[in-house]
Amino acid sequence: MDLLVQKFGGSSLATPQKVLSAARRAIGEFEAGRSVVVVVSAQGDYTDRLITMARQIHPEPNPREMDTLMAVGEQMSIALMAIAIHSLGHGAVSLTGAQAGIRTDNVSSKARIRTIDTSRLRRELEREQIVIVAGFQGVDVDDNITTLGRGGSDTTAVALAAALGAERCDIYTDVEGVYTADPRLVPQARWIPVIDYDELLELASLGARVMHSRAVELAKRYGVPFRVRPSFSESEGTLVTDLSGEMEQVDVRGAALETEEAKVTIRHVPDRPGVAATIFSEIAAASINVDMIVQNVSEQNRADVSFTVMQRDLPRAVQVAGRLADELNAAGVDVNEEIAKVSIVGTGMRSHAGVAERMFRALADQKINILMISTSEIKVSCVIEAPAGERALRAVHNAFELEKNDTDTKDDNE
Ligand code: ASP
Ligand code: MG
Repeated sequence: MDLLVQKFGGSSLATPQKVLSAARRAIGEFEAGRSVVVVVSAQGDYTDRLITMARQIHPEPNPREMDTLMAVGEQMSIALMAIAIHSLGHGAVSLTGAQAGIRTDNVSSKARIRTIDTSRLRRELEREQIVIVAGFQGVDVDDNITTLGRGGSDTTAVALAAALGAERCDIYTDVEGVYTADPRLVPQARWIPVIDYDELLELASLGARVMHSRAVELAKRYGVPFRVRPSFSESEGTLVTDLSGEMEQVDVRGAALETEEAKVTIRHVPDRPGVAATIFSEIAAASINVDMIVQNVSEQNRADVSFTVMQRDLPRAVQVAGRLADELNAAGVDVNEEIAKVSIVGTGMRSHAGVAERMFRALADQKINILMISTSEIKVSCVIEAPAGERALRAVHNAFELEKNDTDTKDDNE
């Protein structure tokens, strides 16, 4: 019999009406003859409210107690969802992470799932129950409640789909699916019917925040295709799967704009072996993620080393860079927060030449200056001045005709 995992995010459960409408979706699938496991997040912004409550009492609450607290929101949702299904005349049972057999390591607030013992889940499914599982939580070897990191319910859903060998995994959310670009910035952006795991991962890391990246990585590792679909309509959403076997791949699947990075430059660093190693090991030791790096050779054996970091890490990055500038006898540190990064992503870039050039040309035609460039197998990113960001995104979207690039959408939308 078909087994389906459905996941409902916080915004899809925010009101009693929404809980009931999610319950109806689960029942619809059950009545079509499927075994249904439903994973739920906390309602609306409930997790944020729990965190605020704790901080009103203590500025740095104990991590174990924070996990116990944050897990409350999902426990509310499982019970409400089960009650909703009962009210519609069907059998349902709620399970916490622990009851569902989800074992994690003991890293508070960013625990990783180690194993899932599915025996209880299977027993409940055999009793023809719709099984509701609390997302975002598990227990460690000592039975302490742990949480998987913000947005972690997606990861729970994919992990359960893998452990149960589910035929389908549907992630219900408040967007239509994945788009060629953020439709609020690019009105012509098109809904994407099918996307590769790697493309979604790149788009997510580039500022298109669709879902928890860890969930996508897990789905890729275990080969779990899943759908990102709207909870407010009947649309099929976007199927996320492995497209690497496709004979004709799309060169560019989507474009993204990231506006939350900043550029740090250490000026006139002595140009000798080991300098980059010193700089970036110090930055890494401060737990700062560096995105792009550029080194310009300047006169007198001195180079300018520039790198980008997330703006939230900027104060620490500037502190470390300042110290390094002193130690290395460099000329000083410059900061530019007025930058934006525009990127294109597509697995077809592996085999199509000339993609980067087309992007540079599109920016040049708009008289947009490129400050930094980085590429990977399936991505090209350009850092530009912040005010040009949205115009650059639209120009690139247009240059690759993403609004009509309607390939590989064969009828595998079952
Ligand atoms: N409720 C948790 C959070 O807001 C987990 C989730 O929504 O997936 O981070
Ligand atoms: Mg959430």
